[in-house]
Amino acid sequence: MDNNSEILIPSKNSVKAEPINIFGPCSAESKEQVMDTARQIAASFPYAIFRSGIWKPRTRPGMFEGVGEEGLKWLQEVKAETGLKVITEVASPIHLHQVLKAGIDMVWIGARTTVSPFSVQELAEAIKGVNIPVFVKNPVNPDLGLWMGAIERFKNAGVLELYAIHRGFHAYDSSPYRNSPRWEIVIDLKTQMPEIPVICDVSHISGTPELISSVAQKAFDLDYQGLMVETHINPEVALSDAKQQITPANLVYIYNTLQRRNVSTTNNEMLEKLIELRSRVDSVDDSLIQLLSSRKRLVEEIGKHKKEYAMTIFQLKRWEEILERQLRNGQASGLSSEFIKQLYEVIHTESIRLQHTILNSE
Ligand code: PEP
Ligand code: MN
Repeated sequence: MDNNSEILIPSKNSVKAEPINIFGPCSAESKEQVMDTARQIAASFPYAIFRSGIWKPRTRPGMFEGVGEEGLKWLQEVKAETGLKVITEVASPIHLHQVLKAGIDMVWIGARTTVSPFSVQELAEAIKGVNIPVFVKNPVNPDLGLWMGAIERFKNAGVLELYAIHRGFHAYDSSPYRNSPRWEIVIDLKTQMPEIPVICDVSHISGTPELISSVAQKAFDLDYQGLMVETHINPEVALSDAKQQITPANLVYIYNTLQRRNVSTTNNEMLEKLIELRSRVDSVDDSLIQLLSSRKRLVEEIGKHKKEYAMTIFQLKRWEEILERQLRNGQASGLSSEFIKQLYEVIHTESIRLQHTILNSE
């Protein structure tokens, strides 16, 4: 499908379905905390799904590891009193067994479980024959194959309702985020598994309330099907993820400022303008590729010289010069330093690869 045809055909997508929103605390801590949070969420979001971790996968032992099975009773009460559907994390067949016994509506698979095909397979075996929606978080590391693999294992086990949750990826330097969003990985997932709805776990990407609004807006702009936001009646005293949880009142405030976008439109004037702008973007992209190809030819020439004079490929001083020059250029042209840095890292890596091939050829 080319870029333009998707907007010309009026489809059911032009009317947005209600987002799948999952709100609630990181962890269930006490019956009061769970019930108070749920009541406030239900009052503003009667169609939300209420989340709460019962068994908490923590980085270090000795941290709060969840209230365990007792918390399932509180989720049952949330369901009975507020009518909200409830979801929790399962990391083992034993958790799954207890969750099913308690009549919990849905389960999510945590980022630390998705990394392990052994654990995922055990869960998939245990879920066979059970009709429960499964939400699969991305693995901690940026590995699309692992994420898709986990989704496939549940699909093969007969799970009919499957969702992906994007919670960001651990990175040595992921600032300003807690987990680097790497939006492009989700775009790849959507391309390869278009049938799987994607929910954005805004809280674990942001790590701080200040970023929640912009991350959530970005998710809607990228046509995500819903949001997960950790919500606590008193975040300051939360036993886990205190820094990133927000109050139900704050959630309502932020949610009301978000813009939901349409994938398509039937407004002709807007369509014509969009088509014109897209065709101009296409021709700029064509030029970009031509320029990159010219650059490649020059880099190859340099490679041949380096081979002749037995010089190293990587020369720190030259790389610093290139980067500084283009950062200055970028700044003068309104391009962000972060973008220029990332772009030039990709370009430079490719140049090194090309020269490596040349230097090591016969
Ligand atoms: C959570 O949702 O509280 C959680 C533990 O998330 P993740 O698996 O994404 O770290
Ligand atoms: Mn959490």
